[in-house]
Amino acid sequence: MAELETDADTARELLFGDRWEYAPAPQSADHVRLEDRYGPFIDGRFQEADDYFPSINPASEEPIAEIGLADEATVDRAVEAARHAYEAHWRDLPGTERAKYIYRIGRMIKEKSREFAVLESMDGGKPIRESRDMDIPLVAAHFFHYAGWADKLEYALPGPGRPQSLGVCGQIIPWNFPLLMAAWKLAPALATGNCVVLKPAETTPLTAMKLAEIIQEAGLPPGVVNIVQGAGAVGEAIVEHPDIDKIAFTGSTEVGKQIQRQLAGSEKRLTLELGGKGANIIFEDAPIDQAVKGIVDGIYFNQGHVCCAGSRLLVQESVADEVIQKLRHRISTLRVGDPLDKNTDIGAINSRQQLEKIRRLVDIGEQEGAEKFQPECDLPDDGFWFPPTFFTSVTQSHRIAQEEIFGPVLSVTTFRTPEEAIERANNTEYGLASGIWSDKGSKLFSISQALKNGVIWGNTYNKFDPASPFGGYKESGFGREGGVHGLLPYLEVPSESWHPQNPPTNGSPSTKPASSTSAGTSPEQRADDT
Ligand code: NDP
Repeated sequence: MAELETDADTARELLFGDRWEYAPAPQSADHVRLEDRYGPFIDGRFQEADDYFPSINPASEEPIAEIGLADEATVDRAVEAARHAYEAHWRDLPGTERAKYIYRIGRMIKEKSREFAVLESMDGGKPIRESRDMDIPLVAAHFFHYAGWADKLEYALPGPGRPQSLGVCGQIIPWNFPLLMAAWKLAPALATGNCVVLKPAETTPLTAMKLAEIIQEAGLPPGVVNIVQGAGAVGEAIVEHPDIDKIAFTGSTEVGKQIQRQLAGSEKRLTLELGGKGANIIFEDAPIDQAVKGIVDGIYFNQGHVCCAGSRLLVQESVADEVIQKLRHRISTLRVGDPLDKNTDIGAINSRQQLEKIRRLVDIGEQEGAEKFQPECDLPDDGFWFPPTFFTSVTQSHRIAQEEIFGPVLSVTTFRTPEEAIERANNTEYGLASGIWSDKGSKLFSISQALKNGVIWGNTYNKFDPASPFGGYKESGFGREGGVHGLLPYLEVPSESWHPQNPPTNGSPSTKPASSTSAGTSPEQRADDT
C-alpha cells in the first residue's frame, strides 16, 4: 500500500518508498545481426582496412564489433567514389527517382527499427525507451520528409532559376544521436542531388554501418553515400579535402571553430550545429507539475547529451521553492541503469572521457560554492554512469552556468521579472534552444521574441519534427537542418530567389555560379527536374 505524505509547502503527493519495485524488463538483443568487423563503406561496398578499432558498450565496457579505421587514402577513395557517382548519374537523376531511393531507405529503417533501436542503445548507452520511441522513428521520418521534397525543389525555393545541387558533401556527426544525426545530414543532401562522405563519431560507429547495409539493399547507386570511420583526424581529412564542396558539421563549438578557421577563404560551403546552454524558463503562472516534467525531459533526456538541453533552469522566485522541491522528488524516482531495460530513464554516459568531463565540471560547481543535489542511486559496477544532478545557489559567473556540461546536470537560478528572465536567458555565448512555461499564450510569444535562440519551445521541451528547422545563433553555429530550411545549405540558389531564410551558410554571400561548380556542367544539366 502506498504511503500518503503531506507537505505544508507543496501539493500532497504519493510516495511509494521501496514498496513498488519494478521487475526487470530487459529488451532482448537476440535479433541484432552484427558482423564481427566492418570496413569503410565506399562505392557501394564494405572495404578492407589496415587497422580496426573496437566499438564498446558504455554500459558494460565490453567490445561489440570492430570498425575499420580510415586514413587519408581511405578518405580520398571515398571522395573519389562520391564525385564519380555525382557526375555519372546522381546529379542528373530526376527528383522523382531520387525520392524513390530515399523513401525506400526510410521504409527499410522502419522495418528494422527494433534492431536499430537496440543497437543504438548498446553502442551509445541511451535508454531503449528513447531509441525505440524517439531516435529511430525520427530517423525514418526524416527520410520520408525529404523524399517528399526531392521533386519539389523549385517550388520550395521559387525564383528565376532552378536550385542546383552542390556536388560532394563531407558530413561529420557526433555521438549523442548517432543514427538521427546521420539522417539529418543524409536525407536533405540526397534529396537535393548531392553525394556524401559521412563520418560518424568514433564511439558510436555501429548504426551507421547497419545503415550502410540498408543503403546497399535499397540499391542506391554505388558512391552516392560513403561512410568512413575513425577519430577527429578522419574528420579533419574530410574538411581539408580539395574535392569536397560543402562541409556539414555537428559537434563541439571548439571543433566547429577550428573547421571554420580551416575553411576561411575557401569556396567550400559550411554549416555548423554546435553546442548550447539552453534556458528553461518557468514563470509563476506556469502549470507547475507539467513544467517539472518538462524540466526533467529538458535535461535528463539522453543523459543530458543533447546540444539543445535545457541545462539552465530559470525559475520565477515566487514558485522557486515549490519547483525545486518537486524536482527533487521527481529525480529521486528516475531509474539509472541498463540501457536495454525498458524501465530505465537514464542510461550510460557515452564514454569514459565524457564521464570524466562531467565529473570535473560538477566538482568545479561545488568548489565554486553551488549546492549540489543528487538522489541516492545504485550505479552498476561496470560501465560509465552519472546520477541525475542539479545545483542551486548558482550564479551567472559559475562555470556550470556557462559551459556545456553535456551530462545529466542542471543549474538552477531564480528571477523576479520577465525582463530579468530574458536578460539571464540571453546571457550566454550560445544561442541554440530554450523553453518557456506560462499559462499565458501572449507571454510565451513576447518572451520568445526577445530570446536569441534558433529553437524555442512553449510549455514543452525537446520536441523534434522533420518539418521543423533546427539550428543556432552565436556560438551554437549557423545554418538550419530540418524542413524546407534544411534544403538550402545543400543547394546553390539563384540569387534573386526569395525565401524567408535565405542566408549565406558560411557567413558571406555565395558567389560561386552554378556553371562553375567542380562538375563543370551547365545549370540545365545539373538542374533538379520535376
Ligand atoms: P567533437 O566536436 O570533438 O566531435 C564531433 C565530431 O567531430 C566527431 O565525429 C569527431 O570525431 C569529429 N572531430 C573531432 N575533431 C575533429 C576535427 N579536428 N576536424 C573534424 N572533425 C573532428 O565532440 P567530442 O565528441 O569530443 O565531445 C566534446 C564535447 O563537445 C562534449 O563534451 C560536448 O560538450 C560537445 N558536443 C556537442 C555536441 C553537439 O551536438 N552540440 C555533440 C558532441 C559533443 P571523433 O569523436 O570520432 O573523434
